[in-house]
Order: sequence, then C-alpha cells, then structure tokens
Amino acid sequence: MTAAHAKASVALVGAGPGDPDLLTLGALRALQAADVVVHDRLVGPEILALIPPTARRIDAGKEGFGPSTPQPTIHAAMIDAARDGAFVVRLKSGDPGIFGRLEEELDALDAAGIPWRIVPGLTAASAAAAALGQPLTARGRNGALTLLTAHDLQGFADQDWRALARPGAVAAIYMVIAASRFLQGRLMMHGAAPDTPVSLVENASRPDQRIHAATLASLPAAAAACAGPAVILWGLAPRAARAALPAIKEA
Ligand code: SAH
Repeated sequence: MTAAHAKASVALVGAGPGDPDLLTLGALRALQAADVVVHDRLVGPEILALIPPTARRIDAGKEGFGPSTPQPTIHAAMIDAARDGAFVVRLKSGDPGIFGRLEEELDALDAAGIPWRIVPGLTAASAAAAALGQPLTARGRNGALTLLTAHDLQGFADQDWRALARPGAVAAIYMVIAASRFLQGRLMMHGAAPDTPVSLVENASRPDQRIHAATLASLPAAAAACAGPAVILWGLAPRAARAALPAIKEA
C-alpha cells in the first residue's frame, strides 16, 4: 500500500465509460487496495469484477439505496467507513469531475475532516468520439469543445444555445435522452440548421455500444431509439466507414 491508499481516507476515482481497458492504472491500484467501494449505478459489471472479494461494496444506485440514492446517504457511507479506518474508494463513472456531483462529496468530506484525493478518469465524450472515428477538436473546424448537460437539478438546463447553434460548433451533451425535444427546440430557435450532424453514442465503449447517426431534425427519433446511457456529439457525424478501414483498396 502506498500513502495514496492511506487508511481512513477516501479516493474519488473515475471508472471511465465502461470498458475496463479504459480504466487508469491509478484507478485499478486504488480498487485493489480498497477496503470499501461505494459505486454508482453506471459503473458496469466488468469493472466491479476487479474489486477484491475482501472489500465491502456499497451500491449507491440500486435497490436498498434506491434508484437515486440521496447524496447525504452517500456522504454518510463514505464518512462512516473512513472513520472506521477504511481506505474508501468512491467509484464514479467516467471522470468524477464531470457531471458527477463531486463538489458536494468533497464538501462533505472536508466538513467531516476526512482526507481525500481525486483519481481522474476518461469521460464518456472521449469514448463516444473515438467510436465515431472523430477528434473532439479539429483545426479549421472547432477550436473549442463544450461539455454540457441538458438537465440540472431544477429540470432542463439553460445553456448558451446561440453559441452552440453557430456552424462548426461541437459539444458533448450528457444526460440527454429525456431532453432531446427541448434541445432540438432551443437549437432551432437560435438558428441551427436542421441538417446539422448529431451523433448519439449509446453505451460508449461497452459491448452493447450503438451509434445513432442523426441530424438536428431527426434527433428526437434517434434519442427514442436509445435504451442505455447515451452522449450526444453535437456537430459530429461518424467518419465514413471506408476511411476507417485503410486496408480496403479502391477497385
Ligand atoms: N462522470 C461521467 C458522467 C456522469 S453523468 C463521465 O465523465 O462520463 C451520466 C451521463 O453520462 C449519462 O446520462 C450519459 O449521458 C453519459 N454516459 C455515461 N457513461 C456513458 C457511456 N458509456 N456511453 C454513453 N454515455 C455515457
């Protein structure tokens, strides 16, 4: 065990988007050293299988804790275990600092005087863009990338739709399925072209990954076809299949 895995402390660890290959070595080492793991619903079975059998697992997403475990319950689980002397891993999907309510958890740990550190992870947008065969930024196309959510605690989120509606804008939009009509309406209202490419990547990096190539006009229909977690890549279309297969030569 290293100082990074000290007893009576918490590591807030990113699990990546699902494929265990996309876990960092730091995340794996923290999991292997954990006495207690408090994990989210979105962390998949292949990653949970890496938790040592000796570690206590607390599912902060499902029955028992309820479909959406209240934040104070999660805070109490981490704090109680750390006070009992455990090295606690708080395992969150993707990067813990992106739409992960990390701030609230850090505030709670600070208030309890529990030492913590953050182990960053690969966010869903990175895996989704890789699945499309697209860079998230490209010279001459977009020199800025926005990560946004269509939802906040109050409901639909207010964003700078005008900036997103400009030609060439690229954004990764999280927590989006129920908000697709809202998004479509806002972007059209601010002048985005109905044929702007929009790709939905469902279950990015997982065995059941699906890519839904759509446009702003067909976004709600594509969103309705998604069953799992999905991220929208606004302004990006999948790179042509032929370009992704360099071995195929022109006849
Ligand atoms: N911290 C996470 C995001 C958590 S918010 C990260 O950095 O990726 C939950 C949202 O993330 C989901 O609603 C979905 O929009 C997105 N998401 C998480 N995992 C995903 C995956 N494997 N494929 C597509 N979207 C995913």
